[in-house]
Amino acid sequence: MATKETTPMMEQYQKIKDQYPDAFLFYRLGDFYELFNDDAIKGSQILELTLTNRNRKSENPIPMCGVPHKAAKSYIDTLVDLGYKVALCEQVEDPKTAKGMVKREVVQLITPGTKFDSGLQEAKNNNYLVAMNRINDQFNLAYVDLSTGELKVTSLNSENDLLNEVINLQSKEVVIQTDFSEAILNSFSKLNILISKQAEIVNTSLVNYLTQSEELTGEQKSVLKLLLSYVSTTQKRSLEHIKAAVSYKISDFLEIDYNSQANLELTKNIRTQKKSGSLLWLLDQTKTAMGGRKLKQWIERPLVNSHKIDERQKLIQIFLDNYFERKQLQDELVKVYDLERLIGRISFGSVNGRDLIQLKNSLNQVPKIKYILDSLNNSTVNKLIQNFVPIDDVVELIEKSINEDAPISVTDGNIIKPNYNQRLDEYRDATANGQKWLVELEQKERQLTGINNLKIKYNKVFGYYIEVTKSNLDKVPEDRYQRKQTLTNAERFSTDELTNKESLILEAQEKSKDLEYQLFVEIRESIKKSIKRIQLIADIVAKIDVLQSLTEISEEYKFIYPQRSIDHDVEIIDGRHPVVEKVLGHQKYVPNSIVMDNDTNILLITGPNMSGKSTYMRQFALIVILNQIGCFVPAKSAKLPIFDKIFTRIGAADDLISGESTFMVEMKEANNALKNATKDSLILFDEIGRGTATYDGMALAQSIIEYDHDQIKAKTLFSTHYHELTELSNNLVNLKNVHVGATEDNGELIFLHNVTNGPADKSYGIHVAKLAGLPDALLTRADKILQNLESDDKKVIPSIPDSSEQMELLEDPVISKPNSTILDELSNLDLMSKTPMQIMNQVYKWQQKLK
Ligand code: ADP
Repeated sequence: MATKETTPMMEQYQKIKDQYPDAFLFYRLGDFYELFNDDAIKGSQILELTLTNRNRKSENPIPMCGVPHKAAKSYIDTLVDLGYKVALCEQVEDPKTAKGMVKREVVQLITPGTKFDSGLQEAKNNNYLVAMNRINDQFNLAYVDLSTGELKVTSLNSENDLLNEVINLQSKEVVIQTDFSEAILNSFSKLNILISKQAEIVNTSLVNYLTQSEELTGEQKSVLKLLLSYVSTTQKRSLEHIKAAVSYKISDFLEIDYNSQANLELTKNIRTQKKSGSLLWLLDQTKTAMGGRKLKQWIERPLVNSHKIDERQKLIQIFLDNYFERKQLQDELVKVYDLERLIGRISFGSVNGRDLIQLKNSLNQVPKIKYILDSLNNSTVNKLIQNFVPIDDVVELIEKSINEDAPISVTDGNIIKPNYNQRLDEYRDATANGQKWLVELEQKERQLTGINNLKIKYNKVFGYYIEVTKSNLDKVPEDRYQRKQTLTNAERFSTDELTNKESLILEAQEKSKDLEYQLFVEIRESIKKSIKRIQLIADIVAKIDVLQSLTEISEEYKFIYPQRSIDHDVEIIDGRHPVVEKVLGHQKYVPNSIVMDNDTNILLITGPNMSGKSTYMRQFALIVILNQIGCFVPAKSAKLPIFDKIFTRIGAADDLISGESTFMVEMKEANNALKNATKDSLILFDEIGRGTATYDGMALAQSIIEYDHDQIKAKTLFSTHYHELTELSNNLVNLKNVHVGATEDNGELIFLHNVTNGPADKSYGIHVAKLAGLPDALLTRADKILQNLESDDKKVIPSIPDSSEQMELLEDPVISKPNSTILDELSNLDLMSKTPMQIMNQVYKWQQKLK
């Protein structure tokens, strides 16, 4: 019978592995991390490692593969980026002194939501780990970014809001304690969001401290505790850089659901999923990673509080007015490293000497930045920097203790400066003197033996030795040296004197390394006490950076300071879509105004396809968002109210997660908007109803407009190709028609891209088809059908074309076998007097007759 290898080591491995069944266990063996069994099989495939076997000769060899511990980070990153967990199992006692099996423990569980230190690429992104709970009908959600220490919590009313928030946070991992509905868990897995369960709640003093704010409800505290319990059980280390939890409400910010965020391309281009081509891409002139992350947060969460918005816009005006100071500020900001993440590494214990030098250099920038801002002598600026206090003690400590060119490793010495610690200086002296002594000894032995190429060398195995080449061996006086090792070309020797000195030198070296590490840890721990102060500095630097970035863009693209409208009217004169303008070039972009006074809530936009209807709508949303993140806006002048929510249905993008048909998604989004919008909201509906048959599409579009007009009264842009809907302005007093201009020149369609009052005269669909290159014969035929349909008697012309026009393609069964009663009824139907339901019923009857 085949027996599994049951060496003590494999037993130890299995015991540990059993505790981490859902993670790759990286088991430390000397200089390698080894993976065994299924981990090895799967890991070797993903990481392209050679799969070998342990105990090859046995009947049941154990699959294994390994990675050098020094290069492990990139392998771990690959696995975690793919959504897996990695349990790092280290030797936790010195193998030299261990009795029996070296003790091993998992020292960290790295998961998609807890990973940080991911290099420059990720510097401008947060990695949020989310936890959620459900108590009756209320949902609570907490999130943390382990690298920056940000900890927030909120309560939500529905699963949909919960899902929306998790997607907006772009979280890769969600922690739960009890089960959530299948539906929501499925949605998460469709989005590749890992669900992790945490049963045990850890009540450490730190957890209690972080969750003590009186603003937090009991439910919020428990979701925070769940989150922090997961963090502490997986990370197993200090969490001192985590900031005390702050609660927020989604209504504190302009609400933009995830589909709208995606549609409006706020932080990502919808096609490429990359930053390029997004609003963030346009606005990002930040000089620091912290600024980059904050800008993204501002864009994802525009404000609704007009004082806060005013404050940001005022600061932009001040930065605009003070060009030279702004340039100086930029020069100083560039030199600030990622303070938030440096602090994270200090707290986590993964900081090294170089990081501390970066911390010092960054903190050294604080007085310089402060000096520039002080010189502006402005109360709003002073308020921004009121807590911007230089941290001289930390700078001085690092300055006197850490070498400018400290190595990456913290255990190999060369970190601590001379004159910092007397004992260390003594060890170093001993080492240096020892080296001097060795040089002198070499000199002495050369003279004594007459062997000029005699050398004193060192290697790890034999320590210090005297090396004499074969050809000179006969010159070595008898009994002078003790033989240590024989090589092909040389002989290696030692003397008692050398052996004694060797132990002194090695001891001093070893001790000085240990002492350096110990001193480094003391310095690190002492800086830990300043974490909160440095975090405050980091936050202010980030804000200054975002504001200078927004100023830079406002200047470059000629944005203006928007005015606030009190009574909800909108007046954007010559507005522009900033991203399309940047891509097309300023000259080519046709600016457009959006004017909606108090009595106008809905603009019904008509115009040919490709004329610029959806660009016009997006332009509105982006101007609103820019205003509410506190930026200037791309227009000649602008007067804007503060919106509470934005809903969009733009473009034909299917739902991100449901995989449902476009029409279904369209209806769901319409429903979401109509249910949740208020009179302070902005709704953008692009060609709603297009996804179904003409009449029910039109009927739905009309009833949606009516509902919005009568019940919600939100500011709405509604583009449509149903010309019939333009008649609605006769009945709906708060609806106005506008159209995007196009003209014909010799039968060619020319887009003017300018929006003017009134409905479009026609839809130009056939012209657009021509632009798209459809065959001439087909277009002629379409023209003919159109003329007929537009003529007074609206008789459908028979579709059997003359023999010269072989147009079978266009044989629509309804039109080719006209059912005259239905057509008569249709042409006599008074659309405007019917409710959508009546129209749907009528359409249903016709369908039955045609079957
Ligand atoms: P529609 O929604 O009417 O089909 P789009 O808004 O998608 O049209 O615009 C089609 C193209 O027209 C855009 O990709 C853009 O290049 C161009 N365009 C739109 N608006 C403008 C404008 N105001 N000025 C210049 N070009 C524009």
